[in-house]
Amino acid sequence: MVRSSVLGYPRIGADREWKKALEAFWAGKLEEAQFLSNLQEIRLNHLRKQQEKGIDYIPVNDFSYYDHILDTAAMFGIIPQRFAYEGGVVSLPVYYGIARGTKDAAASEMTKWFNTNYHYIVPELSGATPVLTENKPLAAYREAKQKLGIEGKPVIVGPLTLLKLSKGYNISETDAWLNRLLPLYVQIVQELAQEGVQWVQMDEPILVTKLSEADIQNLKTIYETLAAAAPNLNIMLQTYFEAVEHYSDIVALPVKGIGLDFVHGISGNIQSIKAFGFPADKILGAGVIDGRGIWRASLSGKLALLEELAEVVALERLIVQSSCSLLHVPVTTAAETKLTAELKHALAFADEKIDELVLLTKALSSGSAAIAEELDQSDRAIQALQQSEERNRINIQQAVAELSVQQPERSRPFAERHRAQQVKWQLPLFPTTTIGSFPQSPDVRKARQMWRKGEWNNEQYIGFIREQIDIWIKIQEEIGLDVLVHGEFERTDMVEFFGEKLAGFAFTQNGWVQSYGSRCVKPPVIFGDIAFTGEMTVEETRYAQSRTNRPVKGMLTGPITIMNWSFVREDIPRERIAYQLAYALRQEVEALEQAGIGMIQVDEPAVREGLPLKGKEQADYLAWAVKAFRIATCTVQETTQIHTHMCYCEFHDMIDSIEAMDADVISIETSRSHGELIHSFELNTYKLGIGLGVYDIHSPRVPSVEEMTGMIERALRVLDAKLFWINPDCGLKTRGPEETIASLRNMVDATMIARAKH
Ligand code: GLN
Ligand code: ZN
Repeated sequence: MVRSSVLGYPRIGADREWKKALEAFWAGKLEEAQFLSNLQEIRLNHLRKQQEKGIDYIPVNDFSYYDHILDTAAMFGIIPQRFAYEGGVVSLPVYYGIARGTKDAAASEMTKWFNTNYHYIVPELSGATPVLTENKPLAAYREAKQKLGIEGKPVIVGPLTLLKLSKGYNISETDAWLNRLLPLYVQIVQELAQEGVQWVQMDEPILVTKLSEADIQNLKTIYETLAAAAPNLNIMLQTYFEAVEHYSDIVALPVKGIGLDFVHGISGNIQSIKAFGFPADKILGAGVIDGRGIWRASLSGKLALLEELAEVVALERLIVQSSCSLLHVPVTTAAETKLTAELKHALAFADEKIDELVLLTKALSSGSAAIAEELDQSDRAIQALQQSEERNRINIQQAVAELSVQQPERSRPFAERHRAQQVKWQLPLFPTTTIGSFPQSPDVRKARQMWRKGEWNNEQYIGFIREQIDIWIKIQEEIGLDVLVHGEFERTDMVEFFGEKLAGFAFTQNGWVQSYGSRCVKPPVIFGDIAFTGEMTVEETRYAQSRTNRPVKGMLTGPITIMNWSFVREDIPRERIAYQLAYALRQEVEALEQAGIGMIQVDEPAVREGLPLKGKEQADYLAWAVKAFRIATCTVQETTQIHTHMCYCEFHDMIDSIEAMDADVISIETSRSHGELIHSFELNTYKLGIGLGVYDIHSPRVPSVEEMTGMIERALRVLDAKLFWINPDCGLKTRGPEETIASLRNMVDATMIARAKH
């Protein structure tokens, strides 16, 4: 019999009740005992749901109080020394201290989980003495069994992945750390085996990245040791997000099952299976339902894929599963009442994906006739969306097809533009500016809500926004900034704002996914061809410019950032979606220019987030990401100054691509990377205008003039003074007005000192 399996279920709850419980607990509004019982109820609900739907292998221990990597570190007593931890089960205050910081100790670093928008807490090994503080997977297994009679499948982060994602040790100490951790894993699997657990899922997504010979050696040691320690326990060695590297080594490991991603790693994994076969004594976890995308699967297509796999792996040795944990998709489409039927029926969130898994399993076990009706439904839903007007904007498709074979280029090279822009703008040495947004006070948010609810009419709302613009234009002039911004008071979010004004986007009511901790995001859905339907930012920008003689920078979100922070359609390549966005944004850029705005910033903070995990795809991605930016910005006059802004992630290995974007000025976050980025620019001799952020906007602290002078001087040792701009690290939306004004004053003072000196 073919069986179904889920690799992990979203924690946040259909109503984000998990998030609400965490935040209430942190705010002291929920006692610990009540909090624990609320979370248990949420956890059991999720298990019950999967049980009712008929999943065979239901994951346990995939639930978390914050993040599963932090859970794993805490389970092993890996607690940074700055937290007062005295051994034993890690208390909630210590646990949340690591995640969020305390008044005495900084939080641990948080970073992106592979190429997803989920962020995990990076374990810090230095100084730790690993011990097993509790067998969490066992506790989760017992709970599911006792409360619901579920024979759960404990999910455990595998030793190699844990080690490679941790920091605070040297490569040369890897073996020593493995020797400390492996016995603890042995203890876990032995206790699980003793309890009668049948399957565990060991998550080793690190196996889809480039690995060294030493890593492979360690992998063998790990799984030989675990298999020998618990011979009756079935280990599913689970990978996801890409095709595995070292396929032959991996399938030769002495584990019972190998889980592969047949969505995001489909071509590589199929190739490997066909070329090298699949061991006759193993089970294949076939990840055919996309755990990351929001689209309904073509059941007939998936059945064909499973049948293709069955040519190599006998049917009864297949487990039909999600490609990865369902953590990355919203809970259910059931509560969506505002989407068109066409769109809603083409979506599948976690619960709908579970239904798909069950249906496919049924079809494999009893023949596809058993699900004839559902097969038909899925085909029809997909077709209906495919044939909708939204996906058939022929004029857009043609325009983008033409653009994609052209080389988007400004009319003049940078050196000439720079000269012309200097003549036009007469900016001083080290021009000062900000990144776009100014503090969004509670008043601003309240005004927007009143307007959205219809309590305020357009006129009232626009009047309010104009007042804010007036206030902040005055403040900027008074501080003495050279290039001003309107402040972005009309925007909640830099993607949603544009998505609401462009055609081809839809917004769910409840399509939340966890980004980190209790923070959830509700990405817009790009489901159709994207079209510019009218000016988006011209009105506020033109108004701001009318209030001052200094230049006001227009402010747009770039094509790649909009795409990477949305759920996107999968019937066309991402490259084409990026060009459609770029084409729409180009029309806004041109409208701004027409309206007399001569400096336009196109933000790309998320440009790196879509970077594939490896290989040639990375270079391809960067090439079309750069091209999309250029499509959006290349048609302006030479005197129009194009700015861009980047933050959040590492850029040191993509400076060539940043340069290829050909923006006249880039502002880039540096203060948190402790100037490491400056080194990279040293090696790369960046030749365009650049402002390295001189202070961190993530803290309410007002930086001193001396600190900023230090940052400026350090940068000027590497960068050409004539091309250097002075600005904060990022937008100031989340800061208070007083600290913002004080910080910017100091920034201008530091600029004066630098001007006098250079
Ligand atoms: N212009 C945006 C702002 O200032 C940029 C935000 C960002 O980089 N994330 O808010
Ligand atoms: Zn930023």
